Amino acid sequence: MVKVAINGYGTIGKRVADAVKAQDDMEVVGVAKTRPNFEAKLAIERGYDLYTIPEKCDDFERAGINIAGTIHDMLGEADIVVDCTPEGIGAKNKPMYEEAGVKAIFEGGEKHEVAGFSFNAACNYDKALGRDFTRVVSCNTTGLCRVIHLLDKAFGVKKVRALLIRRAADPGDIKKGPINAIIPDPVKLPSHHGPDVQTILPHINITTLAIKIPTTLMHLHVLNFVFDKTPEVDDVKAVLEKAPRIRFVSAADGITSTASIIEFARDFGRPRYDMWENCIWGESVSIDEGELYFFQAIHQESIVIPENIDAIRAMTELEENGQKSIAKTNKAMGIA
Ligand code: NAD
Repeated sequence: MVKVAINGYGTIGKRVADAVKAQDDMEVVGVAKTRPNFEAKLAIERGYDLYTIPEKCDDFERAGINIAGTIHDMLGEADIVVDCTPEGIGAKNKPMYEEAGVKAIFEGGEKHEVAGFSFNAACNYDKALGRDFTRVVSCNTTGLCRVIHLLDKAFGVKKVRALLIRRAADPGDIKKGPINAIIPDPVKLPSHHGPDVQTILPHINITTLAIKIPTTLMHLHVLNFVFDKTPEVDDVKAVLEKAPRIRFVSAADGITSTASIIEFARDFGRPRYDMWENCIWGESVSIDEGELYFFQAIHQESIVIPENIDAIRAMTELEENGQKSIAKTNKAMGIA
């Protein structure tokens, strides 16, 4: 059993912990938080040993929350740590992981340089084998890499253009906005998402633009592809439909918005209404003047979770074959 520590138990960290717990070849040795809030109490109720940074131990004690020790104690128990702290803190934590001699996974809020290697399970699993440091790319980059890689292998991608319509904040976040505006983000074009895709797929010619809108549920991507050889719509659907982390949704079934995808996930019984797959509207897949267009929705809180599990398996060499790891992760998490 590979022993996994999770540093940062917020939106991503709590989901990574539950996904690790669902696997039969790895276990959670502890989770670390800095705030003694309801999430800390629930972590203990879920059976996780809770740790914190040395300067916060008293805060937890005052709040009546039992901690198992400091982050340093937690790292002493672990083979690998998944750093799910807010953007920029992972880079500061890296020397602590080096000193403790544990492998570390960073999330998409960190720069590529923090690990020198960015990961997506379908694209470059084999390059992560045995690595000490890896960065699992952000939700938008994960969603883009999944479809670009598949379509490039099948038809040869000449050019990708993507408009990313981004959610303003996660549902529990009351500090970010906008609440009544559309923000070109960034105003200076193109956006950083294209170069981020190229950290994994360097040969892909891609231009991305992004805007931020007042919603918390999901991102929506408007995608346009030019290929070496123009495929038929049915060929495109056939390639995407059989991929393990892609789900086709249909306006004919009443799924006409990100809100209905989330309602579907609730009714389907997904934990925290998570949607780990890219959701592509079948009706939107179109070829116009030889170019492909479609819409996909990306659940920002959960899409990167299975990728973290595969990164753990590759870095600790539990499984050499990426497709086998993806299938194992999916089965344990209930990704159809
Ligand atoms: P979050 O704010 O929801 O959670 C961060 C957690 O880390 C909190 O529990 C906080 O108490 C804790 N923390 C803060 N400072 C800490 C420290 N010094 N040591 C230990 N714990 C500390 O953040 P998040 O949304 O889960 O984001 C984590 C990472 O995942 C970021 O790199 C982010 O860019 C990336 N990411 C986020 C999303 C998303 O939509 N939320 C999607 C993909 C990737």
